[in-house]
Amino acid sequence: MIYKNYPMVSRVVFGRGSFNQLDEILSPKRKGRNAPFIFYVDDVFKGNHWLTSRITLSYKDKIIYVPTKEEPKTSQIDQLVEDIILEYSELPSGIIGIGGGIVMDIAKAVSLMLTNKGNSKDYQGWDLIKQPAIYHVGVPTISGTGAEVSRTTILTGPERKLGINSDYTPFDQVILDPELTKDVPKDQWFYTGMDCFVHCIESLNGTYLNAFSESYGEKAYELCKKIFLEDSLSKEEAQDKLMMASWHGGMSIAYSQVGVAHALSYGLGYLLGIKHGVGNCIVFDHLEDYYPEGVAQFKKMKAKHNIELPQGICADLEDYQFDTMIDVALSLEPLWENALGKNWKTIATREKLLSLYKKM
Ligand code: NAD
Ligand code: ZN
Repeated sequence: MIYKNYPMVSRVVFGRGSFNQLDEILSPKRKGRNAPFIFYVDDVFKGNHWLTSRITLSYKDKIIYVPTKEEPKTSQIDQLVEDIILEYSELPSGIIGIGGGIVMDIAKAVSLMLTNKGNSKDYQGWDLIKQPAIYHVGVPTISGTGAEVSRTTILTGPERKLGINSDYTPFDQVILDPELTKDVPKDQWFYTGMDCFVHCIESLNGTYLNAFSESYGEKAYELCKKIFLEDSLSKEEAQDKLMMASWHGGMSIAYSQVGVAHALSYGLGYLLGIKHGVGNCIVFDHLEDYYPEGVAQFKKMKAKHNIELPQGICADLEDYQFDTMIDVALSLEPLWENALGKNWKTIATREKLLSLYKKM
């Protein structure tokens, strides 16, 4: 048995208002006046003085606002990297992602592709990255994905939706300021928060489970139940705790895997562009055969917060489209093996997946 030797985020600051310290965290990392800091910021914050006034631009630093209607594509990453290379004479001092999973993944991917030659699609997979990334910083503004702590950046390429998983992917620095999440719309709060809940359920019920994953998964699960099923927390406490649940949920899957919901949700994402959070919810709602207790709790949470999930999204699909989704889902072998064990192929048949997709 060879045990994986994983890297982790090397520095983290936590606290309401900790985003004020961005400047003093970055300045020692500046490599010179021709090596800028590039800030990718979710375009929902364009014109938001409360947030953007705390980003100080010096020399050639730049803020790039990123639309987040669609999840990141490999072609988009390649373009962003090319833009930087054409515009500056030196590599940046750092790449900072301020936003949800989309913007954090963009920051991670750009920082990797600035030092690794070629196209980002060629690095989708496990441990294909050879060179360390540019210094990169993650600042989540919505909680749940665990992207702030993970060793992957999930991209949609021409052939697949798959992460760049590598030892160089995790952030060098994360700023956890729960106050930044205060204006997240309710539905989105639920969808992204449920990503964390689903990470816990898939990790805790997986065959890859071990004490490392379990300890983080149990903590995140307990926090999710408090946040989404009880009324005991103030708004601020709930924001603080969801940020930590996301972190722990991410840590839990670091040393295990996700499962059925993520596999099927990747299929929806690839074919229909359904986003990760809502996609997981749409899928998870139908997974009572695999995760009976988790799905029962999920349904309670959904009812408590009056969430209406999109229905009938697969109603008008053709056979070949179902086939594409099934191919994408079944290609994620580690997820199925974690969920169902070594003999997963006898349980997760194409017919079974088809019947599940047809319910959505
Ligand atoms: P997101 O980045 O898609 O953002 C969702 C929406 O919330 C956007 O419209 C955004 O503008 C808005 N938003 C974010 N912060 C806000 C704020 N403070 N106030 C108001 N609106 C705000 O959402 P997400 O669920 O965090 O991320 C999903 C993405 O993360 C997907 O691309 C998925 O593939 C990726 N992901 C990555 C990992 C990883 O480990 N790298 C894990 C899970 C998911
Ligand atoms: Zn997820």
